[in-house]
Parts: sequence; structure tokens; C-alpha cells
Amino acid sequence: MTKNYDIIIIGNGAAAFAAAIKASELSENDASILMIGYGPMGGTCVNVGCIPSKYLLEVSNTIFYSKQKRFEGIEIGEIKPDFRNIMEGLRNTVKELRKNKYEEVLKAYPNIEYLEGKVRFFSTNEIGVDGKVFKAKNILIAVGSRPSIPNIEGLNEIGYLTSNTIWDIDSLPGKIAIIGAGAIGLEIGQAFLHLGSQVVIIEALNRIAPQSEYELSQYLQNNLEEEGMQFVLKARINKVKKAAGKKILEIVTARGKEELEVDEILVATGRKPNTDQLMLEKANVETTSNGFIVTNKRMQTSNPRIYAAGDCVSKRLMLETLAAREGTVAVSNILGLEEEMDYLHVPSVIFTYPQLASVGYLESEYVNEYGKCSCNLIKLEHIPKAHLMKEKRGLIKIVIEPTNGKIVGIHALAPYASEFIIEATLAIRFGLTIKDLIDTVHAFPTLSEGIKIAAQSFVRNVERMSCCVE
Ligand code: NAD
Repeated sequence: MTKNYDIIIIGNGAAAFAAAIKASELSENDASILMIGYGPMGGTCVNVGCIPSKYLLEVSNTIFYSKQKRFEGIEIGEIKPDFRNIMEGLRNTVKELRKNKYEEVLKAYPNIEYLEGKVRFFSTNEIGVDGKVFKAKNILIAVGSRPSIPNIEGLNEIGYLTSNTIWDIDSLPGKIAIIGAGAIGLEIGQAFLHLGSQVVIIEALNRIAPQSEYELSQYLQNNLEEEGMQFVLKARINKVKKAAGKKILEIVTARGKEELEVDEILVATGRKPNTDQLMLEKANVETTSNGFIVTNKRMQTSNPRIYAAGDCVSKRLMLETLAAREGTVAVSNILGLEEEMDYLHVPSVIFTYPQLASVGYLESEYVNEYGKCSCNLIKLEHIPKAHLMKEKRGLIKIVIEPTNGKIVGIHALAPYASEFIIEATLAIRFGLTIKDLIDTVHAFPTLSEGIKIAAQSFVRNVERMSCCVE
């Protein structure tokens, strides 16, 4: 027998939860909602993404930077990390957050039913799960993504870790090769470096963090190299093999062929959508050639009754908060409100130390779209707070529209940049100019003051400026 619902949500991650809760609230618990999930509740972010990676970065930064002499008068003692216990702590934190923020939460919404299983589409409004058939007025697809594995000879045979599996290991690899210098490779790479592994990152392009502002990614690369990380850029991995318990990568660069011997390999070469077994063709849902679902800004697919949100949707960034916003926009439209996604005012952060936080246009993007822009870059050493923290590694760059001073992009490489990028996000979203930033009194001494100082750099030489000058 076919069961009918107002909304079926396929997925159990950030987009699906945000959508289910919003739909429940908007309909005042009236809409009948079925959420169908596969795998641990909460999806990528809480289980194998943001939460475990940021936890490990907190732990590893604590270990690594406690050993660095920053201030006079402190004698550095011995620190004894226990990797097995660290990973146990990480897994407990994941379990706790999954329980409190996902598993227990659904109980508070009487109109949301939850079902475990793999979904297939039968038609434009009918789906099947383990022999049962369900129908809905509207369907939201929020099935997420998984690591995409490059076709490298020998890789499947010798085995590798991904951002799905690395959280299960209990012994620290002596030497690890990471394939890919995007957010995942850099964050996990720095965490393992700080825990004591030797880390070599192999990247196909000639730079790291390819979606970031160029000068900041160069600076970050230098920082990471100074800490001991090695990069092999513009590299192709020909094949991999195992010998005497070690994994050996054959790498081709401009220098020729070289071999790299490691204990473990982490593949961090991007993610692909979990849409391949949904039979979307039966639902008339259009996808790109690599399986991402195509939507309009209302998150509606080519089938007007079906919406999509999260990592399975075709777009530039895969972020937890963006997925949740897309889920919210989708169900708001399903329930009669008119909402559109805004992809420009979305902050993104690579959580290395220092952190690389970014919002709005890159310089190159703005020039490509509008022909010209004006940009200024300041060093962290121009921020008084950086002096007293004894941490001057970093840069802040502002991209403005040259005719009216309107801020269109802000990019910061700084400790805790994730905590102040929201000022930049609001400034860009609400059309503020550099004058608006300069005229706003900032707390002193803070790193967020760096945004104001970067704005001031358009009107005066910040190298010859005393504290708090407007
Ligand atoms: P990515 O696409 O950001 O980076 C992958 C990198 O791997 C690229 O630099 C690419 O050139 C390189 N690459 C691809 N194939 C290669 C090969 N065969 N050999 C060498 N290099 C190769 O992907 P990611 O880092 O895996 O992250 C996946 C997604 O998750 C991204 O959208 C990312 O933004 C998101 N994410 C975000 C955060 C965050 O916001 N802090 C953290 C982790 C992941």
C-alpha cells in the first residue's frame, strides 16, 4: 500500500534536518513529513566532517603551539600526547553531538516521521524504500556527498584513508601522504603534522587552496612549510604500490619521476554527490554530467515538485551552513513563501592555523566580471592585537568597487579569522563602503580591528599610524 505525505525529505544531514524543522515550524506541526536517512544521523558534518576535523585541530594546535616559545617567562615543559586516547575523545565528542543535535532533536517534532533505508525513485512523485512505496506532494532531495577517489593504478589494492575513515585509526602514522591541497587536505594535514606525523601533500595544480585569494594561499603555504609540511605541486601520481609494509607513490613532476615512501595515504581530492542510485531519471530531475542536481535559486529542480539542497546540489562550495540554508529555502518555497538562495554572501573558512577566511569576490573574479577593481592587502603586523599575541603571521585583503568604495570581497589569513569574517559578510551583504568600516568604532585591541585597518589602508599609510586613528 502506498503511504502519502505532504513532504518527503530524502537524507539525514544538515540540509535535511534544517528543512524538516523549518517545515514543521512553518506549518505549525501540521504538514506530514517523512524523513528517510541512510547511515548515521547528522550526515557528513557531525560524523566525519566539520566536527571531528575541528576537534582534532583544537587538540593538535594545543599540543604543537604549547611547545613553541611565544612569551618571556614561561618554561616549556614536556607534553605527552596519547593518540589512541585523543581519537577516543574525538569519537566521544562526535557521538555526543550526534545524540544532542540530531538523534534526540526529532522527538520534539510530532509531525516528522523518520525511516532508515535507501531510496529509489519510481516516478515523478513516488519513491520506494525496502519494498515499501511512498508518495508526497513535494519531495526534497538532500542526500549529501562522499569522497571522490581518483583513478590511480594500485590505489584500491594497497588501500587508503579518506575523510570518512581517518577518524577510526588508533595509531599515528609516522609519515602520511595526502593527495589534494584543498580544505580537507590542508586541515587534516596540519592536524597530523602538529600531532607528530611527517606530512607530504601532493597537489595536481601549481598552488594550494585553489579556491582562495592567491596571495593568502601562498602565504599559508609558506607558513605550513616553515612548520615542516612538505608540498609536491603540479604533480601527477602515476601509480602506487606496497613494499615491505610501506606504501610507495610514483609521482611525476617537472623534475621527472620520483618515489615517495609513506606509512599511510589520505585521499582528499574532492567529493561527489550521492545521487547515483536514486534513479533520478524516473523523476525527471536534471543532473550535471558528474551527478550534481541542477536547481534554480528557489532550490527547485527541473521537476517543479522536487527540490534539492546540500552537497548533492551543483554549486561552488560544500558547506554545512550553506546546506542548511538551502534546505530552509527549499521548504519555505514548498510551503508558499518566496525565498531565494544568495550564494555571494557566504563566508568560507579553511580551519588551519592561521585560518583562511573568505567572503565575497576574489580579486580575479571581480576583474573577470566587471573589468576592474581596487584591492589592498595589509600584514597582520599592522594590528596591535597581533603584536601582543606575538602572532604576526597573516594578511588581510579587501576588494572594493573602485568608483564608490563599496566592499565586494574580504579575505583574511589570521588566527581566529573564522570568528570575525562575519563582520565582512554583513558589510558586503548590506552594501557598506570602506568609509562605513572606518567610521565604525571597533573594540581594541582585537584581531577584528584588522578589517578596519585594511579599509584605512585605502586612505592612508597604515605603517605610519598610531592605535585607534580613524
Ligand atoms: P577540494 O575540491 O576543495 O580540493 C581538492 C584538491 O585536490 C584540489 O586542489 C584538486 O586540484 C586536488 N586534486 C584532485 N585530484 C587530484 C589528484 N589526482 N592528484 C592530486 N591532486 C588532486 O576538495 P576537498 O578538500 O576534498 O573538500 C571537499 C569539499 O568539502 C569542498 O567543497 C570543500 O570546500 C568542502 N570542505 C570545506 C571545509 C571547510 O569549510 N572548512 C572543510 C573541508 C571540506
